[in-house]
Amino acid sequence: MLGKMMHRPLLISHLIQHAARYHGDTVITSRETDGSTTVTNWAKLHDNSKRLANALAALGLEQGDRVATIAWNNRRHLEIWYGVSGSGMVCHTINPRLFPQQIIYVINDAEDQVLFFEKTFLPLVIGVKEHLKTVKHFVCMTAPDEEVRAQIPEVIFYDDLVDNQSAEFDWPELDENAPSSLCYTSGTTGNPKGVLYTNRTTVLHSFCISLPDSISLSATDVVLPVVPMFHANAWGLPYAAAMVGAAVSLPGPNLDGHSLASLIDKDGVTLAVGVPTIWQTLLAAAKETGTKLPSLKRNVVGGSSCPSSMIRTFHNDFDCETLHAWGMTETSPLGSANQLKAKHKDLSDEDKLKVRLSQGRPPFGVELRIVDAEKNNKLLPNDGKTPGNVQIRGYWIVDTYFNKEQSALEPDGWFDTGDIATLNEDGYLMIRDRAKDLIKSGGEWISSVELEDIATTHPAVASAAAIAANHPKWDERPVIIAQLEPGHEVTEQELIDHYLGKIAKWQIPNAVVLVDAIPISGTGKMLKKDLREQYGNLLIERGLVD
Ligand code: ADP
Repeated sequence: MLGKMMHRPLLISHLIQHAARYHGDTVITSRETDGSTTVTNWAKLHDNSKRLANALAALGLEQGDRVATIAWNNRRHLEIWYGVSGSGMVCHTINPRLFPQQIIYVINDAEDQVLFFEKTFLPLVIGVKEHLKTVKHFVCMTAPDEEVRAQIPEVIFYDDLVDNQSAEFDWPELDENAPSSLCYTSGTTGNPKGVLYTNRTTVLHSFCISLPDSISLSATDVVLPVVPMFHANAWGLPYAAAMVGAAVSLPGPNLDGHSLASLIDKDGVTLAVGVPTIWQTLLAAAKETGTKLPSLKRNVVGGSSCPSSMIRTFHNDFDCETLHAWGMTETSPLGSANQLKAKHKDLSDEDKLKVRLSQGRPPFGVELRIVDAEKNNKLLPNDGKTPGNVQIRGYWIVDTYFNKEQSALEPDGWFDTGDIATLNEDGYLMIRDRAKDLIKSGGEWISSVELEDIATTHPAVASAAAIAANHPKWDERPVIIAQLEPGHEVTEQELIDHYLGKIAKWQIPNAVVLVDAIPISGTGKMLKKDLREQYGNLLIERGLVD
């Protein structure tokens, strides 16, 4: 033998053991569903996840079994994450805002054995309960509560389950390819599809997002994952926080701007992570109360395109650096993150902003390419100009959806993301659209992302969605649905004029509709499909068909 290196499997239980051993007193603050705040730490969280692992074993669960949660980001949920995945089971986090039919579908598809739920979701659970084919135990994530017991007599209470168990538990030495968690995509078309992550993909992803040119996490950070734990595992933050020993602030159910601003100030949050709609409400609340969010040094924006005005406001008014990242449930989720390279350091602020507007470049561990999907995945140049379908491969990318026979990959092993983007020679990705949101006018394609960004540079506009409206001559033309900042006014014509000189004339939207609120999905994204259903015939109805 030439020699040999030790082989240690990459396991989620190692993350929590490390956090407890070397960062045991690092604080985890949790806003609970009943309005109270709990302060715990990695050592206590580890103990409780071991108690839970003992409890799950006592309930008869085995490795590979699926355990569902319908829960906010809080202390008990994090204990469940580690207790379930650490003992070799699969933690299936469910988005409570799915339609009840979809919730029934995902639980039956996953064959969940246990369902952990917040008291808030009791009506939802009662509504779907009789349709659930595999759930043997319903666990309400509270202390014993007679109101809940009156409605589900067989219910188990989380605190009973955990308090009665010992904190002595030896995490099993699993195969690192053992599945650890399961997230379903939102299923805007057809049933949601499950992505089954493994211990190995999760640990590798945690290394990656902690790197300085990714999210740059450290033991000195206080991390606020606003992104829900059911949305692509809160983008991996709760795992990476354990890896580096960061403090965590778990926001619970109240994700309005005022609650978040006060939580950031109270907990001294240094890094916050979420979708653009969250930051929009945070900025509005901070402006109202006058807080400068002094502790907040970085925020990560992903899930939808980050408007340039948002990066500017965080930078200029809050001294906070906005990091634009891109990914999807199928990619664990990190596919790219925007940090500058050395060659950008001397650029003016305005030119830096142009670089930082893009979704960034792939970290080590994933590769990106753009192709012409209609021409047999012909490779397209990385010139920053030519748009194509984004395809990805890497260490933490889906191969086959849960319960499906057929691989989701292209014949040569890449995953097609359904996004349309350009890549430049440095690997910076610029998302132009989702293939299903494309606006095609007379055979030419108009970027909805660009139209939306221009709309939000108008001071009166809080958020904007560009959709394709039917047009007898051009097939489709862009229409903007805009939500105004409170107390601001603007006419539809003024907003259309705002586009003059910023893009080619033929790309300027044909109409603007001002609405009180743009509908938002359970993961905080604009529901463009609903908007298209509502406004798809607007131009024809208004006679704007020249
Ligand atoms: P859902 O399908 O529920 O929206 P995902 O969160 O997996 O679930 O959505 C992934 C999609 O979100 C990507 O394919 C892309 O279209 C969009 N997306 C994610 N991050 C960004 C970003 N930074 N800019 C633009 N679009 C993004």
